[in-house]
Amino acid sequence: MGKTVLILGGGTSGVAAANVLRKLLGEQHRILVVDRGGKHYFQAAYPLLMAKLRNPEQITRSLDRLQEKGVEFIQAEVEELLPSQNQVKTTAGLLRYDYLIVALGAELHPEAVPGQKETAYNPYDIHAVHRLQRELEFFRSGTIVLFIASLPYTGAVGPYEIIFLIDAWLRRRKVRSQARLIHITPEPALFPFAGRKVSSSLEQMLRQRDISLITNAAIQAVDKQRHAVILADGRAIFGDLLIGVPAHTGPLALKNGPLVLDEGWCAVSPHTLHAKIQYGDGSHVAEAENIFCVGDAAAIRMPANGMWAPKAGIFAHYQAEVVARNIALSITGQAPRFRYRSKGAGAVMISGFNQGRILSIDYYASPPRTAMLWPSAAAYLAKAAFEKYWLKYWLY
Ligand SMILES: Cc1cc2nc3c(=O)[nH]c(=O)nc-3n(C[C@H](O)[C@H](O)[C@H](O)COP(=O)(O)OP(=O)(O)OC[C@H]3O[C@@H](n4cnc5c(N)ncnc54)[C@H](O)[C@@H]3O)c2cc1C
Repeated sequence: MGKTVLILGGGTSGVAAANVLRKLLGEQHRILVVDRGGKHYFQAAYPLLMAKLRNPEQITRSLDRLQEKGVEFIQAEVEELLPSQNQVKTTAGLLRYDYLIVALGAELHPEAVPGQKETAYNPYDIHAVHRLQRELEFFRSGTIVLFIASLPYTGAVGPYEIIFLIDAWLRRRKVRSQARLIHITPEPALFPFAGRKVSSSLEQMLRQRDISLITNAAIQAVDKQRHAVILADGRAIFGDLLIGVPAHTGPLALKNGPLVLDEGWCAVSPHTLHAKIQYGDGSHVAEAENIFCVGDAAAIRMPANGMWAPKAGIFAHYQAEVVARNIALSITGQAPRFRYRSKGAGAVMISGFNQGRILSIDYYASPPRTAMLWPSAAAYLAKAAFEKYWLKYWLY
């Protein structure tokens, strides 16, 4: 009899899981994706959109395209998980499943810091990034402040790509000497998950480009009148142009359900990504046999130090592959054998026009193994090639 795999979320991990499952399973099995929006955005290209190297259409695809591949798509809000009935409550009604993949990503809260939503550009929202592009195109002089509201945030390299590309663009426009750039982060050190060597290398890059850095910053508010980022220690950092990565939380749809949450993110088994669930009065916790959580929504910590593992598309993609392959094995009567191992070789941080640094990390290793190669054009081209491949192959 045909089985139904229900995938919540049509972002990086949801789309990857749907594609892999469709390839591996016969037509008698239903694969269904639910997303609140009708579109898939390639978020890793937002910094390039900001720097006028992309336009929104190039990095946006309709999720309806999944239907042409034999994957059903429903546009609806996921409201609640009902695991005891193998159902999910959505605004399009109750959806039944045999296997459930939670791929809901992170929720962004620009309203969490008072004044941020009204005063700062949100570089994690495609429409705001497009507006920011126009603002930067005509920026002549003054201070640009980029801040990260809180931890954890998705796309570890994202904010750094943004500040490096702003620097590069202003230099190209020959107005860099009239601009001051300030990068503010709550991280105690840059890329704390990657260790001292990578961290110092990144700090050095900021210094070389004359970008001021404030670490360990607790962002308290954004003052609209004074156009300043207010830190908890009382400092006001003034800027003519403010850009703020909003606070992130785990998916709101999981908030009051039976899945176990770790500070709001979905607790999972580290290698199989089974979601953890509470039974009875909540005193009994076990792996949910047919529910998995992947991507940004998953609460993954580094075993060596308990810190959050970086949230990134490269990991979301691997996790989706592992889970999709194991579900396909289960459905076809075989034992699941794939394991998520956290090795993300080949992530690229864009460090300027036509320049990037390859970053590799294995965050389950104790101590975590990381490396960041020197800037190269090859790294930049590899990232661009991956974007093309993703949009063409997964959502043609
Ligand atoms: C600016 C920026 C730059 C980045 N750069 C990189 C990079 O260079 N490399 C890299 O590896 N990663 C990068 N990332 C991170 C990467 O994009 C994410 O890690 C990845 O998209 C996470 O995939 P996901 O499937 O978990 O979540 P998402 O891709 O965010 O997808 C979640 C989906 O769930 C849907 N959804 C959420 N809640 C509901 C609900 N209640 N009902 C219905 N639908 C819902 C959303 O609409 C969304 O489509 C970047 C991110 C940003 C923002």
